[in-house]
Amino acid sequence: MIHATYDLHIHSCLSPCGEDEMTPSNIVAMAALKDLDIIALTDHNSCKNCPAFLELAREQGILALPGMELTTEEEVHVLCLFAELSDALHFDDYVYEHLQPVPLREDIFGKQDIMDKEENITGHVGLLLINATTIHFENVYGLMEQFHGVMVPAHIDKSSNSLLSNLGFVPGDSRFRTYELADAGKRAAITEKNPYCADCRVVVNSDAHRLEQISEPVETMEIEQMNAAAVLDFLKGIHR
Ligand SMILES: [Zn+2]
Ligand SMILES: [Zn+2]
Repeated sequence: MIHATYDLHIHSCLSPCGEDEMTPSNIVAMAALKDLDIIALTDHNSCKNCPAFLELAREQGILALPGMELTTEEEVHVLCLFAELSDALHFDDYVYEHLQPVPLREDIFGKQDIMDKEENITGHVGLLLINATTIHFENVYGLMEQFHGVMVPAHIDKSSNSLLSNLGFVPGDSRFRTYELADAGKRAAITEKNPYCADCRVVVNSDAHRLEQISEPVETMEIEQMNAAAVLDFLKGIHR
């Protein structure tokens, strides 16, 4: 078993709330500086900066996963993580078709830049990415099966945009096996009120919107091999 450090929740400049300094190149450089083993890029409702991110991470020898922080119809944030870029980009197409048709207003929300690995801006996303999609929380697990990804309800201990704050409970038919906490110290309180969570794995990520917020190499996960498929297996609760 390998104890790998990770940060699986990082926003780039493509997220309207992500700082301009969060270029794929700067994120990977910071992760290398911090000596993280595994990183994932999870912009709001988009995977369009993942190609540059993955290429840069490969050059640095960091294991990187393509991902997205999906906003469900109920405004619940869910990390969707993939082993293969092609799966992530197919899911990106699906989510784009399920965005509300609200154009981005840069003066209010900031830019949504798509970049290549040399930090050239190669495009923009025209629809506002932080709105809710029309995808229901109850359908996310099935979608992840269809697109070969894994769902991780994000920051469920937060008082907004989380499974517990927006739905108020863990649905009885839930099948996710890992959830994210913003504060690792909240686990006991969460499992006391939500027995489902007692059997799940927990990840604690930075949810970085600025470079300095990217995690220190503190949190670890136990994986069998240093590859993306093994990380997905961990998040799916396989090999307990
Ligand atoms: Zn979030
Ligand atoms: Zn986030």
